[in-house]
Amino acid sequence: MAARTLRIGLIPGDGIGREVIPAGRRILEALPASFKLKFSFVDLDAGFETFKQTGAALPDKTVDTLKNECDGALFGAVSSPSVKTEGYSSPIVALRKRLALYANVRPVRTVATAKSPVDLVIVRENTEDLYVKEEKTYDGPDGKVAEAIKRITEKASFNIAQMAGDIAVRRQRVRDSGAPSIHKQPLVTVTHKSNVLSQTDGLFRETARKALAQDAYKNVKVEEQIVDSMVYKLFRQPSDYDVIVAPNLYGDILSDGAAALVGSLGLVPSANVGKGFAIGEPCHGSAPDIEGKGIANPIATLRSTALMLEFMNEEAAAAAIYAAVDANLEEGKLLTPDMGGSAKTDEVVEDILKRL
Ligand code: ATP
Ligand code: MG
Repeated sequence: MAARTLRIGLIPGDGIGREVIPAGRRILEALPASFKLKFSFVDLDAGFETFKQTGAALPDKTVDTLKNECDGALFGAVSSPSVKTEGYSSPIVALRKRLALYANVRPVRTVATAKSPVDLVIVRENTEDLYVKEEKTYDGPDGKVAEAIKRITEKASFNIAQMAGDIAVRRQRVRDSGAPSIHKQPLVTVTHKSNVLSQTDGLFRETARKALAQDAYKNVKVEEQIVDSMVYKLFRQPSDYDVIVAPNLYGDILSDGAAALVGSLGLVPSANVGKGFAIGEPCHGSAPDIEGKGIANPIATLRSTALMLEFMNEEAAAAAIYAAVDANLEEGKLLTPDMGGSAKTDEVVEDILKRL
């Protein structure tokens, strides 16, 4: 079989994004030949620095190149200006819109041997809910009143639930192939607050149920959880969860909360996913406090790179990266300062490449 060639857009952005995205490139280049993958890379600009230089935080060229040339991409981080800057808005938010990346996928896991193991994925709807940002303020009889629209559509709810189902099936396939895991059976937990918001969250719940009742997911167990009790249970017993699907706002909150379960932000990956395209993105920001010191933890980016590969159906290559990262963490000798170690970014990358 001929090697598959994949073209990857690299968007380091600002701050430590520039220090960790090269790690993603290096691990792709280091994948053993047995995976039959070849990569080519294209460097692309976005972020606050780009905005200061060109007046655009997300140049059209970046979007066009991703659309026309790339099979996937890695995005580092962008810093947000501390004071509101005229004309600046977050390039990753714009990218999600322009490339129709309707899902934010965030796996949160510890190594299987951890004292309190976690191995779950949060699948967050990324286009609607309160984030349609239709707000208004007006004068009421007792002072100002502010309102925001919460929009839930059948289509977006169906798509996101279907993605959660697909991810649950894929995770099971990886387990069946022998990857260590704390789960035996695929489970999707649908999160909502339909006891209060019977129309909006009611539509989400009902549609997600319908999507997950499809034949493709017949081996997937489907449960529901009201979001407030979800938070409680997630923190009490995180090992109970496999795939969690949620509308935008609850997904946002659950994602950051779940990241706290595994310690450093520097460990947690994510992917922005649309139909046939995924951008891997570490969950952390540009970390200005450690920028330029060469000590940023590269693991969130390495795992985001693997996650991007999963959405390109290169599960075996992804599994190899996850395993190399786990081996580094399990040994626990070469760790960056956020993990209590004293290693530099490059030393951790070297160690993980050696294990690949
Ligand atoms: P931004 O506005 O870009 O989000 P921030 O100041 O909120 O920047 P974050 O990147 O969100 O910073 O990081 C929060 C904290 O976690 C910081 O103290 C940062 O140093 C630390 N941190 C984040 N990512 C990493 C990483 N990859 N390695 C080590 N420490 C990290
Ligand atoms: Mg931040």
